[in-house]
Amino acid sequence: MSRLVELRGVGRDYLVGGSLVRALVSVDLDIDAGQFVAIVGPSGSGKSTLMNVLGCLDRPTRGTYHLAGVQVSSKDADERALVRNRLLGFIFQGFNLMPRTSALENTELPLVYRGVPKAERRKRALGSLVRVGLQDRIHHTPAELSGGQQQRVAIARALVTDPPLLLADEPTGNLDSVTTYEVLALLQELVREAGRTVVLVTHEPDVAACADRVVTVRDGNVVSDERQVSPHDARASLEQARRRARQVGGGP
Ligand code: ADP
Ligand code: MG
Repeated sequence: MSRLVELRGVGRDYLVGGSLVRALVSVDLDIDAGQFVAIVGPSGSGKSTLMNVLGCLDRPTRGTYHLAGVQVSSKDADERALVRNRLLGFIFQGFNLMPRTSALENTELPLVYRGVPKAERRKRALGSLVRVGLQDRIHHTPAELSGGQQQRVAIARALVTDPPLLLADEPTGNLDSVTTYEVLALLQELVREAGRTVVLVTHEPDVAACADRVVTVRDGNVVSDERQVSPHDARASLEQARRRARQVGGGP
């Protein structure tokens, strides 16, 4: 397995009203390609700060970050934007889709930034939407889609550039349990069948249970890092959640 992420002594300080907040103290973290990693920890422990560093949205105050062998911690904002476009896909809690814009156009967007010609963009965006099971919703705008479908568009958009690393900060935070497991089943399949690497932040134990590995952050440090020998199968949990939803709804 190839090493995708290598953090060494990574810290991030914020100066707030004259006092120093150490959002990350000193984090060492290695992630190999093909892993599904959950990052958990209490609110304010530094999870989002860590994701922002991993996603090259932010630069560490100290320490080094190698992404796919490239030392990204010292790069300036323009260079980091390039790295994001080439190596990373983002899935956010709020989906961050453009309103009044179709699923297809939303999915194409990262390729527009790359200067990919229109016909090729269409083809790849369609392939990505098929991958997430939205081939019959490509002309719908976000307002015309359910929360789960919107999150699938966001995943299609994250996949369209074929990035080695997918980052998701609380991607199921606003979703009911059926939709949560739909999203998780998709992420699990992307890791198991398509060899993707996923790093996901969550505060829900049921969500973390689906990952191959759980990294716990507390007070700006990694305090435990455990492999899960038999992670929950999100597809099976999805079937269970669907059955429960039908029972609650009074169906068969
Ligand atoms: P989590 O995602 O685990 O809830 P965060 O990474 O958002 O935690 O925050 C970790 C700590 O850093 C918190 O104490 C938070 O208040 C602080 N922090 C995060 N972002 C900023 C910022 N932009 N400016 C100042 N302090 C911040
Ligand atoms: Mg957070």
